[in-house]
Amino acid sequence: MSIRWRLTLSFGFVFGVAVAVAALFLFVAIQSWVVSVRIDTRLNVYSALKVSELSGETEDGIDYAIAVASLPSLGYYDPDHPDSTIWVQLADADGNVLARSNNLGDVVLPVISGRNLVPKTVSGGTLRILPYYFEANGQIYQLAFAQSLSSVNSDMARMGIALLLIVVAFVALAILSVAIMIGRALSPVKTVTATAQSIASSSDLSRRVNYHGPKDEIGQLAATFDQMIEQIDGLMRSQRSFVADASHELRGPLTVIRGNLDLLKRDLSEEDRSESIRVLEAEMARMTRIINDLLVLAEVESGQLDREQTVSLKEILLDAQDRALLMAKDRRIVIERQDDLWVKGDAHKLDQMIGNLVTNAVRYTPDGGTITLSLYRDGDWARVDVADTGIGIPAEQLPDIFERFYRVDKARSRRSGGSGLGLAIVKGIAEQHGGRVSVTSELGKGSTFSVWLSL
Ligand code: ADP
Repeated sequence: MSIRWRLTLSFGFVFGVAVAVAALFLFVAIQSWVVSVRIDTRLNVYSALKVSELSGETEDGIDYAIAVASLPSLGYYDPDHPDSTIWVQLADADGNVLARSNNLGDVVLPVISGRNLVPKTVSGGTLRILPYYFEANGQIYQLAFAQSLSSVNSDMARMGIALLLIVVAFVALAILSVAIMIGRALSPVKTVTATAQSIASSSDLSRRVNYHGPKDEIGQLAATFDQMIEQIDGLMRSQRSFVADASHELRGPLTVIRGNLDLLKRDLSEEDRSESIRVLEAEMARMTRIINDLLVLAEVESGQLDREQTVSLKEILLDAQDRALLMAKDRRIVIERQDDLWVKGDAHKLDQMIGNLVTNAVRYTPDGGTITLSLYRDGDWARVDVADTGIGIPAEQLPDIFERFYRVDKARSRRSGGSGLGLAIVKGIAEQHGGRVSVTSELGKGSTFSVWLSL
């Protein structure tokens, strides 16, 4: 069953029960009010009247039972309202009926047991009876005043049917309007479902719900759904271009390797042969670097890092300087500032991150240039700056250089041994540690890469 009908029926049930209980309560209240006002008041007034007359007679010493035997004349009959006839009956303590008002005909009223002077409904709800007890000649007598409830009952039955019809109409109307309201409220969900189904069947991630209604729970669901599809679409597109880029990067060295292998099969001079082998080794090394970097990137992006180690950034910086000095040639590698800062993270990956920045700085700085490393506290962050006096990066390319396989100068980067993944790895590691990386650069003057890691 759909949510719409489940909600509607639940509401209908609760509402129906509530309205029915209210109607029942109203019915019972009206009934008892009508009985007490219309019947009991008359019985009380009439009985009080007659009993006072009787009392008078007892004072005269007249035998009570005999006096009451004249009761038939007490029968009060209203020809316009036969139901308002009041019946009177006298009984002794043993329940023997001694006298009855003549309007009773052959009917005998039930004798009420007990001594309560309150009206009671008897004979299956058809009779209201008010007993009155008195003592005469050492005996207890019960004088009962009664009135038929048949007209009250038929009035109440009519009112009951009217109430029932009102309840049914009320509940039906409420159910109908609730069903319409819920249907309207849930209609965007149908659109979301239809969009999801069409995406699932067509694999077309460009489709969106594009909900323009109010920003309620359903509106938020539709917006979140669109956001999620947008993200998945972006991820899929970057995944596709990543696979295409990776294949392209690996196809280059493979083509060179195949060409040189073909060459080696021929009759080559010793000089050409050793040149071919040197090229083969270089391309193999490049492929190995690309594949290693791809593996590191996959590891970093999957988030499987051991971030619980306590790492000294100062040590990492000194190690990076040592390694850079090995390939620095005429470049100077200096440490400007080295605070003793420790962070929580994956020591090996943090080492690789700083190493990549320093390697790039050396790679893109001509001989005679200077690479300056700094480590210092910046608010709640540990900040590492790697500044060089190298070739710099054109401003319009700065936003892209952290993309996978993005290179400013492709030929130069390849020549200098870059895989195009170094900065993507730096960014990935920084972000996996809750940090970030940024760059400022001036063409021909140098670049500064800064990494922030939370302390
Ligand atoms: P690569 O392996 O090609 O160096 P990276 O991802 O490490 O790849 O760097 C991306 C591009 O950013 C490089 O191709 C280069 O053009 C540019 N780049 C990176 N670091 C520097 C730097 N210190 N100075 C100038 N350009 C840089």
